Amino acid sequence: MTRNYSLQTRLLHNQHKFDPVTGGVSVPIQHASTFHQQDFDTFGKYDYSRSGNPTREALEEAIAELEGGSRGFAFASGMAAISTAFMLLSKDDHIVLTKDVYGGTFRLVTEVLTRLGIDHTFVDMTNLQEVEAAINEKTKVLYMETPSNPTLNVTDIRGVVELAKQHQCLTFLDNTFLTPALQRPLELGVDVVLHSATKFISGHSDVVAGLAVVKDEELASRLAFLQNSFGAVLGVQDAWLVLRGLKTLHVRMEHGQKAALMLAEWLETVPAVKHVYYPGLAHHPGHELQKEQGYGYGAVLSFELESEDAVRAFVDKVELPVFAVSLGAVESILSYPAKMSHAAMPKEERAARGISDGLLRISLGLEKPEELIEDFQRAFAAIEKSFT
Ligand SMILES: *Cc1c(COP(=O)(O)O)cnc(C)c1O
Repeated sequence: MTRNYSLQTRLLHNQHKFDPVTGGVSVPIQHASTFHQQDFDTFGKYDYSRSGNPTREALEEAIAELEGGSRGFAFASGMAAISTAFMLLSKDDHIVLTKDVYGGTFRLVTEVLTRLGIDHTFVDMTNLQEVEAAINEKTKVLYMETPSNPTLNVTDIRGVVELAKQHQCLTFLDNTFLTPALQRPLELGVDVVLHSATKFISGHSDVVAGLAVVKDEELASRLAFLQNSFGAVLGVQDAWLVLRGLKTLHVRMEHGQKAALMLAEWLETVPAVKHVYYPGLAHHPGHELQKEQGYGYGAVLSFELESEDAVRAFVDKVELPVFAVSLGAVESILSYPAKMSHAAMPKEERAARGISDGLLRISLGLEKPEELIEDFQRAFAAIEKSFT
């Protein structure tokens, strides 16, 4: 495509709009694990599907283009993408990362990388002084996740990138919550963008997948080498599902964040709700920063009730959202961080991160938002007697 179309249009009209061989308006699923070589001396573009496969490559090109990178990589899960990116590090290297990082990343960094001699320091990434103070001569990566899970703290991406440049570190950013539709970290100077494509990118709770995107060519070839060496590549059926999900990414994110703002504003009027965390609310501490560094606030919010008992009663009464781990799907997903995503974290650690036993997280799907609010209203009314 020569014209400079919007991301919304490019989701449909890109180099994979149709199959050049047949005109088929869907990327063909190439199941072959190996490829016949016509010439004894010069092999073709594809030889073995771990190293390269046209269906996976279509997804890799699509995400690279959407994030504004030079090269994308598709993995068997978000954690496979994150783990492979960390393979860029070596023994005695050090990572500075946000203390409210995704639970699986927390586990990888604290229980696996430490064993390999790669150390880390957790910081409050919203505080650049704290980030800088944690950097030492061994620090190789500043790792961001913004907005963070589940309290939606916003990191100053440009600020962290600036610190990384001063200290010759790379920056990684987990962009799962906003996707390239609402935040494009490479434009802000980030080196490696990571995704759990299991969430909004695929968007239908039917595939586990991960993506990584880089801009720098040298970094791209190092990651390509690691993807092939580590081998945690995405299968072709799953790559196709992610490609299909991607086509509706923009409408899903737009609807989801409109619904999130409506629900957040309504929750603020509910007496049983102690606090609402959503960067789209004007009083959220990261609101102005997010407005300036991204293209939206996302479709995830958290809210706090009085106690675990109040949460239990609410979850029991509410009808529409599924009550589950995960987020970013066509159906709204309600989760309880204390017993789900952050169950492995001791209660004091959770408390320090604002994850109380009364905190619930919801990722907004495509239901009619007014009906979700009515559903919540009925649930709150039913439990009101006991909790207000
Ligand atoms: C789910 C998630 C991951 C891990 O992705 P998987 O696809 O489950 O391996 C990483 N980061 C964030 C922010 C997530 O929500």
